Amino acid sequence: RSKRRGRGQITVYSREIAQEMKRSTQLEQALRNAIIADSVEVHFQPIVRIRDASVVGFEALARWNDPDLGFVSPAVFVPLAEERGFIDALSDTLLRKAAEAALSWPRELFLSFNLSSAQLMDPGTAGTILATLGRVGLDPARLELEITETAVMTSADTAERIIAELRQSGVRISLDDFGTGQSSLGRLRDFTFDKVKIDRAFISRITTDRASEHIVKAIIAMCDGLDLQVVAEGIEEWADAEKLKTLGCAMGQGYYYGRPVDAAATLRYLQTHHRDFLPTQETA
Ligand code: C2E
Ligand code: MG
Ligand code: MG
Ligand code: MG
Repeated sequence: RSKRRGRGQITVYSREIAQEMKRSTQLEQALRNAIIADSVEVHFQPIVRIRDASVVGFEALARWNDPDLGFVSPAVFVPLAEERGFIDALSDTLLRKAAEAALSWPRELFLSFNLSSAQLMDPGTAGTILATLGRVGLDPARLELEITETAVMTSADTAERIIAELRQSGVRISLDDFGTGQSSLGRLRDFTFDKVKIDRAFISRITTDRASEHIVKAIIAMCDGLDLQVVAEGIEEWADAEKLKTLGCAMGQGYYYGRPVDAAATLRYLQTHHRDFLPTQETA
C-alpha cells in the first residue's frame, strides 16, 4: 500500500511523525520531571451566584510553566498524561494542592476539580481521591468533581460505580461542558449528577444568537425539573450575566467575574467578594 505513494512522500510523512513523536516524548519527560519536582501548579477561578456576584466556590485549573518549554496548556498536557498512563500521579498532586488551598477558604465554599476520562475507567479512582482528601483534611462534602459527558459514555459501568462511591462519601458530581459532548439526555436520567455546567460555546453567543439563548433556556428548565444545579461557563461580559439573570440561571463563571488566579490571590478575591471577608462596620 505504501509503495504506490512513492518514496519521497513516505520519507516526508515518517519524518513528520518522528518529529512529532520526539516532541511529545520531550514534553512527556518534562512533565514527569515537573510532577516529581512538584512544580505543576493549580490556579482557581471563582464560581459565583449570579444574583449578587457573591462567590460560592472555585474551580481548580492546572497550570504548568516549564522553564524550557514555557507555558503549556492543560488542554495539551492533561491528555498527554492520560495517554502515557500517569494521569493518576498528575491528578493526585493537583488535588492535594487544590485541597490545601481550599482549607483557607470559608467552609461553605466548595472546590471544583476536573476529572479526566481515563480516571473514570479506573476503579481505584474513588479510593485515591478520598485518601488524598483525608490526608489534607478537606471534608469530602466540600468537593465537587467535574466530569464530561464523553467520559461517562466511554466506560459507563465503571464510571457509574466510581460516581456512586464518591457520592456516598458526600462528594458532588457536576457535568462539565454540557451540550457539546456526544451527549445523550438519557445520561441525565441514568446517572446521578448534582450540577450541570453549560458550555461556554452557548454562553458566548447568548446575547447575539437566538438559538443559543433558547438552548440555554431549555437546559435551565430541564435542570430545574431534574433538581440539578446549573452553572453557566464562560461569562465574559456584563450583558451575558444580565441575560442569564433573566433566564433564571443561578450560578456563573467566567472572565467577567474573575480569571483563574493562584491560591494567594483567591484570598484577596474573597476579601472583596465574600461576606465573611468583607470589612465590618467596626473595621471598615
Ligand atoms: P474546563 O474544565 O471546561 O475549564 C474551563 C476553561 O475555560 C479553563 O481553561 C478556563 O481558564 C477557561 N475559561 C474560564 N472562563 C472563561 C471565559 O470567560 N472565557 C474564555 N474564553 N475561557 C474561559 P484552561 O484552564 O485552559 O483549561 C482547559 C481544560 O483543561 C479544562 O476545561 C479542563 O478540561 C482541562 N483541565 C484543566 N485543569 C485540569 C485538571 O486539573 N485536571 C483535568 N483532568 N483536566 C484539567
Ligand atoms: Mg471544568
Ligand atoms: Mg468546562
Ligand atoms: Mg472544556
